[in-house]
Amino acid sequence: MASEEIGLDDVLHSPYTQQLVAGFRMLRFSPVLEGEYRQYLLEESVDLKRVALFLGIILWTSFTVLDIALAAPGNLWATLLLRMAVLSPLLLTVWLVHTRTHLPLLQVMSHVCILSLGIGGIMIIGNAHQSQPNFPYEGLFLVCMAAYFLVGFRLIEALVCSTIIMLVYLSVELWVQLPTHQLINNFVFMANANLIGAVGCYLLEFKSREHFLTKRVLSLQAEQDSLTGLDNRRSLGRIFTRLWRQAKRESYPISMLLCDLDFFKQYNDSYGHQAGDEVLVRVASILNELARRPLDVAVRFGGEEFVLIYYNLTEAEAVQRAELLCHTLRRVNIEHGTSAATSRVSVSIGVAMIQPHLNEHFSDLYKRADDALYKAKEQGRNRVVCSCPC
Ligand code: GH3
Ligand code: MG
Ligand code: MG
Repeated sequence: MASEEIGLDDVLHSPYTQQLVAGFRMLRFSPVLEGEYRQYLLEESVDLKRVALFLGIILWTSFTVLDIALAAPGNLWATLLLRMAVLSPLLLTVWLVHTRTHLPLLQVMSHVCILSLGIGGIMIIGNAHQSQPNFPYEGLFLVCMAAYFLVGFRLIEALVCSTIIMLVYLSVELWVQLPTHQLINNFVFMANANLIGAVGCYLLEFKSREHFLTKRVLSLQAEQDSLTGLDNRRSLGRIFTRLWRQAKRESYPISMLLCDLDFFKQYNDSYGHQAGDEVLVRVASILNELARRPLDVAVRFGGEEFVLIYYNLTEAEAVQRAELLCHTLRRVNIEHGTSAATSRVSVSIGVAMIQPHLNEHFSDLYKRADDALYKAKEQGRNRVVCSCPC
């Protein structure tokens, strides 16, 4: 599907959009996205695993009652012992689901649980079939269906578990010499049930992958400025909250550079809105260059206003970065014949800083940067003013 047909042209270069456009019929993303998707699936499936475990434990325990009623008396204790043994990985997994801290281990234990339920069930069925060939084996279908639909497995994981269960079942029934016609009948039913499970699981995984990509694209669209590709004002609050928490932990200051292009209305009036857009894109790329460290943030705050957030700079260093931005824009040398400040496109910048030991908020930082910007405009524009006495 073409990207413009699905309204994705403003986030066209994101890997999520490209994957959506390229498709994923084989249920596989590019290597980077595949890792991210698996992590997402792990996190999203914890609640599903909780429900599956609850059901698994209830059903497995209730089948114990059936054993007491149906199993050959000589085998009852062995059967009950096996039932207890299978319950132990399930109970360990309950703890993992509860803590939510060891997600990769939880995934491994989910496989162990499904295989224990399957192979444990097969042992009990095989044991019973030695003396009672009609002992119900259909409980195995439930285990396979749980692998396809209840534990948040990808299709390939569910297929591997179910195939192992089918092969073990076949081997055990051959070993206990279940009558051939009955073995064929049971195996064919089991294979058909697995086929239905696999088709359903494919469709579910396809939808889950589509949902993952769409969600990521939507959040990019919501938090990214479509013209410049910078983070937008909406995302600044979230980014700042995260940074501020870290700054308080590590006792580092945060600086804000509030940047506003000078006489930009006049620029649009003289050179056209399209040319104005090109200037905004150019300015955004300069900001991007100036925000290269992992915790630096460049944001299009709105219109022709931009914000740079710096983590752990001194006041003097923050002012230096602001001067560098003015200087770089001057060097880019974009003509602005109707500017009363200078003949080139220029920017005014207000600089402010927030210290972690003070009980201040984003609004305090913004207000100080805005006051400084106001002064920069008042003093003739094309300059940096710092709210701090540096
Ligand atoms: P000052 O030096 O006082 O900041 O003057 P100014 O003209 O830059 O400020 P003002 O707030 O009066 O005008 C801002 C202008 O920015 C008005 C609007 O046309 C322009 N602008 C806002 N967003 C966009 C945009 O996305 N594209 C273009 N081309 N122009 C924009
Ligand atoms: Mg403005
Ligand atoms: Mg302006």
